[in-house]
Amino acid sequence: MSQTNPAWHHDGMQNIWLPYTQMATATATLPVVSTDGVRIRLADGRELIDGISSWWTACHGYNHPHIRSATEAQLKTLPHVMFAGLVHEPALRLATRLAALLPGDLERVFFTESGSVSVEVALKMAVQYWLNKGITERNRFVCFRHGYHGDTFATMALCDPDEGMHSLFGSVFPPQMMAELPTDEALKIGFERMLSTHRERIAAVILEPLVQGAGGIKMHDAATLKFIADVCQRNGVLLILDEIMTGFGRTGKMFACEEAGVVPDIICLSKALTGGTLPLAATVARRHVFEAFWSQDKGAALMHGPTYMANALACAAANASLDLFETEPRLQQVAAIEAQLRDALAVCKGLRGVADVRVKGAIGAVELSGEIDLEQLRQRFAECGVWIRPFSNVVYLMPPFVIGPEDLSVLTSAIHQVLLERSIRV
Ligand SMILES: *Cc1c(COP(=O)(O)O)cnc(C)c1O
Repeated sequence: MSQTNPAWHHDGMQNIWLPYTQMATATATLPVVSTDGVRIRLADGRELIDGISSWWTACHGYNHPHIRSATEAQLKTLPHVMFAGLVHEPALRLATRLAALLPGDLERVFFTESGSVSVEVALKMAVQYWLNKGITERNRFVCFRHGYHGDTFATMALCDPDEGMHSLFGSVFPPQMMAELPTDEALKIGFERMLSTHRERIAAVILEPLVQGAGGIKMHDAATLKFIADVCQRNGVLLILDEIMTGFGRTGKMFACEEAGVVPDIICLSKALTGGTLPLAATVARRHVFEAFWSQDKGAALMHGPTYMANALACAAANASLDLFETEPRLQQVAAIEAQLRDALAVCKGLRGVADVRVKGAIGAVELSGEIDLEQLRQRFAECGVWIRPFSNVVYLMPPFVIGPEDLSVLTSAIHQVLLERSIRV
């Protein structure tokens, strides 16, 4: 394959630094030349069927003509202006549409350019919410085992320290309170006790609702989410839901919190917000949170403002993405994917070296046991013509919602095939 790789690949690899990668052994990067629908086209002419929507963003597949024409039109008139003192239609329309889509009075939208930063803003909002009320002690956060909230310093402190990604930095950031998900009676009592004991110190609880993504694709039910929200309410603690991965239909509803009838005080959105085309994130606050900042005192304002916040191109792409949720049957497609994943991944359950199979919405995960050679698995999937990139101990699918049953079946068959081969070795 290497002789067909373009020169820019070989040359550029001498200068690029890749994410989550030991560069000394990073031999397997595949040069991509184009994308289309659910397909990724490589420089050597091969096509891979995409099983993970480019880090869970490309919910409408790649190169959707509606998003393309909306961003092209925006590029001609107003690609970007600073968002202080100036505002523009794409951002304000998007804010109004998000407020209308989200449950309850989640109605004040603060735009940033990445998920991690949207969580940083949520944390800042939560701490300052209490400060603006004259309460200075509430500056700690409660997060959950297997949680993931980003790679920046404040968000790293909220990730599961045992998952490894950020364990090197434990001594650098402030320790937060790590809770177990209250999935049984004893854990429920423990969680309630933790909050009632420390409530005077806690600014907010933060959780990825229903599915914890990068911490291992762990799933919990709506009743657990509802219980957490109720405990927060009983103890007067803010609830931040990080729907960066779950938002925009991934778990079956437009937002995962809807399944539990929960309205968080603050919600974070990003990944699928622009349908996987341009970087954009939103931190959305309920009315009472916003009102704590509404004052004649300039010091009570939210002091945050990324240079590229509310980028007009990205907002135009997000508006076009929301159009597609209105005009195309995305949630039905998610339901169909869920049914097919349940059916097709069930056969993996009996394989040696498989610990668990989990499905929720357009998310399917196969948890592995025993020795795991990630590089080898990744290479086998590419050889099977699919783009599936296992991490930690999970092989998972989060395909674009527009994937047809045949392409989806190629993905699930590849997982079964590769794990069958592995079952002989483990
Ligand atoms: C991806 C992700 C983030 C971080 O988003 P970035 O855009 O990578 O900074 C935070 N929380 C969750 C739940 C995510 O899935």
